Amino acid sequence: MKVEFYRHHLDQKEIDSLVEALGGIFLTAGPLTRRFEQRFSKYLECRAAIGTYSCTSALFLCLKALGIGAGDQVITTPMTFVATSNAILETGATPLFVDVEAATGNLDASRIEAAITDRTRAILPVHLYGQMCDMRCIREIAKGHGLHIIEDAAHCVEGVRDGIRPAQLSDAACFSFYATKNLTAGEGGAIATNDPELAAELKIMRSHGIDREAADRYARKYQHWDMVRMGYKMNMFDIQAALLLPQFANIERNLERRRQISQRYRAALEPLAGVKLPEVRPNTVQACHLFTIWVDPDRRDEILARFQAEQIGVAVNYRAVHLLSYYRQQFGFKPGDFPVAEEIGARTISLPLYPKMTDAQVERVIEVVKRVTVAS
Ligand SMILES: *Cc1c(COP(=O)(O)O)cnc(C)c1O
Repeated sequence: MKVEFYRHHLDQKEIDSLVEALGGIFLTAGPLTRRFEQRFSKYLECRAAIGTYSCTSALFLCLKALGIGAGDQVITTPMTFVATSNAILETGATPLFVDVEAATGNLDASRIEAAITDRTRAILPVHLYGQMCDMRCIREIAKGHGLHIIEDAAHCVEGVRDGIRPAQLSDAACFSFYATKNLTAGEGGAIATNDPELAAELKIMRSHGIDREAADRYARKYQHWDMVRMGYKMNMFDIQAALLLPQFANIERNLERRRQISQRYRAALEPLAGVKLPEVRPNTVQACHLFTIWVDPDRRDEILARFQAEQIGVAVNYRAVHLLSYYRQQFGFKPGDFPVAEEIGARTISLPLYPKMTDAQVERVIEVVKRVTVAS
C-alpha cells in the first residue's frame, strides 16, 4: 500500500469556486481577495488580514514595513524552513539565530535575552509543526528591549497556547498557503495584524507602493494613482482567494482528522525505543501541521530510504538552517553553533499527515515505522 507524503483536500467546492472566479473580471487582487481577507481576520479574531503572494513575501513586507534593514539584526530560530531567515536577509538585515528547546524544537525563549545586542530590532519566532511558541514570554522580552515581533505562523493557522493565538501578542503574524499547508492555494500567504496603521502600510507595500490597487483603479471611473513609498509586487490574487474561501467551512473538520491521526501515531509510536516525539506543551491547541519523529541520527538517512522503499512518503522538516552551504559560507556557521537545533535536524523525519489519509494508511505507516526504526 502506497502512502503519499501529502495529498491536498481540495474538491468540488474549490473547483466550482475557481471556475466562478475565472468567469469574473478580476483575476488579480479584487473582490475575492477582499472577501478572503475579511474571512481570515474573522477566523483569527484580529483586526486586519492582508493577502500576499506567499508567506515569504508576507515576512519580508512586515520586516520592511517595521523599518528593518541593513545593519539590523532579527532574532530567529535555526530550526525552520529557509524562507524565515531568507526573508530577513532580503531586507539587508542579519538573522541572529537563537537555539531551540530540546522538547519541542521551538525557539527557546529563555535564551533570547542573552542574544540581544544594540543592533537587534525584532524577534521572529516560528510556531514549529503547528505548536505555538511561548508568546507571553517572548512578548515580555520584546517589551523590555523595545523589539518588534513578527510571527512565522506558516504551520499555525489553528494553533492556540494559553488562550493566545497568532497575531495577538505581536506586531503581525505571517501565514502560508503553499501546496502542503493546512489551508492551500498551491501558493499564497497572508499577514494578520491588530495594528491598523501597519495594515494600511502593508496594503500599499504589497502593490508597488501605490495608493490604489487594480480593483480600485478600474472598478469605478478612472482616477490617477500615485506612488507614495517604495513597494513590491507581492499581492494575493483572486484565483488564490477563490481556492481558499471554501476551505474555511472545513477548517475544524480537517483539524480534527489530523488530530485523530496524530493521536493514533502518538499512542502507537511513543512506546518505541528507537523513536522520540516532540512534546506538546500544556494548554496548547496544536494545529497538527506536521507529525515528526526523532530517530537515531546515525541511522536517520538509512531510515528515510527504507520508508521510501516501502512506498511511504516522508520529508525532513528541517535540517538546521545555519548548517546549509550558503549560511556557512556567508556567515561562517559551523557544527556546534546551535547544538539543540542541529541534533533535531539530524534526527527528524516527518510522517504523512493529511485529512484524506485513510485509517488503513495510518496503520500501514505505523507498521513501517515500527519495522524500520528497530536497530538492525
Ligand atoms: C512553508 C513555510 C514558509 C514559506 O511559505 P511560502 O508561502 O512558501 O513562502 C515559511 N516558513 C515556514 C516555517 C514554512 O513552513
